[in-house]
Amino acid sequence: MDKKRLAIVVPCYNEEESLKDNIPVLKNTLEALINKNVVSDDSFICFVDDGSRDRTWRLVEDAHKNDTKHIKGIMFTRNFGNQKALLSGLEYAHNRDVDCAITIDADLQQDESKIEEFINKYNEGCEIVYGVRKDRKTDGVLKKFTSYAFYTFMNLMGANIVPNHSEYRLMSKKALDTLGLYKERKLFLRGVFFDTGLKSDYVEFDVKKREHGDSKFTYLALMKLAAEGITSFSVRPLRIIFYIGIIISLISLLWGTLTAYRVFILGIHAPNHIDYYEIFEMFMSGLQMLCIGIIGEYVGQIIQEVKGRPRSIIEKELD
Ligand code: UDP
Ligand code: MG
Repeated sequence: MDKKRLAIVVPCYNEEESLKDNIPVLKNTLEALINKNVVSDDSFICFVDDGSRDRTWRLVEDAHKNDTKHIKGIMFTRNFGNQKALLSGLEYAHNRDVDCAITIDADLQQDESKIEEFINKYNEGCEIVYGVRKDRKTDGVLKKFTSYAFYTFMNLMGANIVPNHSEYRLMSKKALDTLGLYKERKLFLRGVFFDTGLKSDYVEFDVKKREHGDSKFTYLALMKLAAEGITSFSVRPLRIIFYIGIIISLISLLWGTLTAYRVFILGIHAPNHIDYYEIFEMFMSGLQMLCIGIIGEYVGQIIQEVKGRPRSIIEKELD
């Protein structure tokens, strides 16, 4: 079999501490794959600096100077977010005609030694190979819970994603071609690749502890990602609002009839449910705000998409 050209795409945001160790690790991983004839010698690693304020870019530049063939880089003008960094790296790889690309986090929490397994699956004919976490031994209870809640909620809301898969993933040339057909500005990559329906498989891996620096994903950022993912893939929340509306209308109709019956037929005038009513009123106004908020999310998405602004802006590229 002829050897495949691989690109390893690494999004980096203030990852100076991680990269010091992980650039050599990734380089060794790639070299080992080349030496084992798993991938071709013109395979490369592309680091995408997502507007870091530390020495991340310097480290990438230095690594590139030492090995221009295997180390490439993209630098954004500012922080555009991890999805944009991944996308830009994948576009870079696609433009250079790679056979497949793998995305992996700069902290190497995702076991890089599994890359060969991804490529084996690809050689067996898979267009997408998902990295799936075996367990979350290294995560705290809160992180475990939030990530469980994230996957369950996303799927419930109609944005189908592979459980326990984040962004450790191999994509074939065909998968990258298909990505180009998704024209929206705000791409939720996990959803997009699932949506393509291309032949896929998964590789299990153990999550490692983050050795340096802190997670760049705050809970707020995770909520934003969930909201964007759901609104860009599904209108189920809007439908739920519609159903809630119907149910509440029916309840109030029933309540009205009951009250009319009490007043006109039974002759009871003093309402005996005033407290319930106040609580119900408060609940209703909360619910209304929530529903308006959900609709607002969709309106916001529409505005962003209509404006058609660039997904990210590149300051420098190392070729
Ligand atoms: N990242 C990025 N831009 C951002 C935030 C994060 O490129 O705005 C990168 C980050 O450098 C890392 C990857 O995305 O390589 C995943 O981030 P992190 O490890 O902080 O997330 P976690 O593993 O905690 O979910
Ligand atoms: Mg991480």
